Order: sequence, then C-alpha cells, then structure tokens
Amino acid sequence: MKPVLSVVAPIYNESATLPEFYRRVRQVLDDLNESWELVLVDDGSKDDSANLIRELAAKDSRVRPVIFARNFGHQVAVTAGLDFSRGDAVVIIDSDLQDPPEVIPSLVEKWRQGYEVVFAVRTEREGESWFKLLTASLFYRLIYRITDVDIPLDTGDFRLLDRKVVNVMNQMRERHRFLRGMSVWVGFRQIGVPYKRAARFAGETKYPLKKMIRFASDAITGFSFFPLQLATYIGFICAAISILAIPVVIALRTAGSHELSGQATTLIAVLFLGGVQLISLGILGEYIGRIYDEAKGRPLYIVRETPEDFEQPAAQAQPFPAQQSAPDKR
Ligand code: UDP
Ligand code: MG
Repeated sequence: MKPVLSVVAPIYNESATLPEFYRRVRQVLDDLNESWELVLVDDGSKDDSANLIRELAAKDSRVRPVIFARNFGHQVAVTAGLDFSRGDAVVIIDSDLQDPPEVIPSLVEKWRQGYEVVFAVRTEREGESWFKLLTASLFYRLIYRITDVDIPLDTGDFRLLDRKVVNVMNQMRERHRFLRGMSVWVGFRQIGVPYKRAARFAGETKYPLKKMIRFASDAITGFSFFPLQLATYIGFICAAISILAIPVVIALRTAGSHELSGQATTLIAVLFLGGVQLISLGILGEYIGRIYDEAKGRPLYIVRETPEDFEQPAAQAQPFPAQQSAPDKR
C-alpha cells in the first residue's frame, strides 16, 4: 500500500535520540491526516540504533527499516532511503532533531501548491560551534560561486521531493553524492521555506573535520571543473610573469645592476612552481580517483535487512537474510 508521504531519515549511532525522534515525527505526521511511512536507514551504527529501529518496526508497521551491512556515509544512507521510499512526496530529515519535524507541514503545504522541490533554509543555527558555522558558511558560498548549479545558500538535506524528482534522482547513481546539489540540478519547480535549525537533541556530530572536507570535495568535484581549470589559470599567470620579467632582468643587467641574482630567487621560483605542479597533480588525482570509483561499478550500498524482512509476522524478522545487494542492481 502506497502512502502519500514518506519520511526518510539516516541514522548513525543515534540511539539516544531515536525514540524522541520517532515520537515527534509520528505526532506531526498523524496531525497531517495523510497516510505516511517512516524509512529509517541504519548506516552501520555501532550502538543500539539498529535494534531500536527493529523494535519500532515491530510496534508500528509504518516504520520501514533499511539496515546497512556497514557504514556507507550520510549521503548514501539518504539515497537508500529514497530508493526504498514509496510515497508521492518524500521528506529527507536528519534524525538528530536538528531539523525540527514540526517544519514538515509547511513543506507539505508548498508541495500541495504545486512545488516539486521544497527545501528548508536555515535562518538560524543553534548549538553549533563557531568553527562549524564559519566553515559551513564559507562552504555554501564557495559552492555557490564555482559550481554550475545555483545551490541555494544555507540549505541542508532537509527538504521535500515530489515522486517525479525522486524517480529522476534514483537514476543518478553517482558514487560521490551531493544530494542537495543533485536535487537542484534536476530542475522542476523549487522553493525555499525558512526554518530555525535546532541544536542536536543528544550525542555529537558525526561529521568530524575529515568527513566535512571529503563532503566539500565531493560537492565541488561533482558539480564543477573549476579546480581542474585552476591549473590552466595559474599556468597563464606564471607564464605572463616570466615574459614580463625577461626584459626587466635584461635591462637591469645591461645597466650593471645585480639585483634579482643569486640562488635564493632561483630557489623560490622553483619551489613555487613545484608547489603549483604538485597541487595540480593532486587535483587531477581527486578527479581520477572518482572516475576509478565509478568505473568499478560496485553497488552504492549493501543492505543487510530490507523493509520486506519486517513485513507481516513482524516478530519473524530474520537476522541474516539472503538479500545482499542494493535494490537497483544494474
Ligand atoms: N549520519 C549517517 N551516517 C554517517 C554520518 C551521519 O547516517 O556516516 C546521519 C546522522 O545520524 C544524522 C545525519 O546523518 O541523522 C546528520 O549527521 P550529523 O548530525 O552528525 O551532521 P551535522 O548536523 O553535524 O552536520
Ligand atoms: Mg546534525
């Protein structure tokens, strides 16, 4: 039975938040008077989250668990949620209650007015460190400037997608995913709804600096060639400087001056160019590594337990079902 509304939430070590998250989402969705499902994707949690999800599914058949074989990352977990969702509209929401479920009705309202992508724009953020705020703000502005799609500033993955959009996005199987870029890239009628981002209900961020950098480079390489072009620009600048410098040095020498001579100037020039070349190689490597990942064509994620394993006699969920690959095997 197809529900009107699907809510997709990725979960990684959120056992402290999960019961409260479920309670608040259920409250909001029940008040909407529409049929709904809650797709909870356990992204290889090391705590008790998977068991909590199983318990919720046993009590409430509208909860559809997708349990990964290991941690595949936030964006991939959301992708799996989209794959398994069946609603006419799908809401993506973080499970740490930073995205208040109470905003969902206003997303649905815009959807009812005919918008196909309704993204929630953070007007305020509570409980984040200044470092996170600064890096996030710089990140969104950089992405906005250098990518080919106009990704709205200060929006996370908290958004509503119409089924049409979800179907298109489900066909985009790129490995290094930046969903908020992809959902803008597809087009359709888009609109933002402002909201106040809350502090985490419990626990800590699962995005340490390393993951943030990875995420940012996925976003940039996924939507822009700018870093590749950078080498060309710097090359032209260096060539221009050297062409200008040649007559200057000749003039200085003929005038008998010994400025701009000696090892230090040579060394600086060599080190500078060496640095630029190595950085350019590294940038090439980033793109080539991603091409290699795509070429391998492995499934995006591996599911240990799918919602079907929890259907009907709910108590008989098998711990190790045969299902081992993503539903979209290709
Ligand atoms: N998350 C996930 N897999 C990961 C990291 C995070 O599914 O590898 C989930 C996490 O449980 C949360 C959401 O993604 O629901 C956002 O993560 P987090 O709150 O840690 O990020 P932040 O809000 O600090 O950017
Ligand atoms: Mg969070």
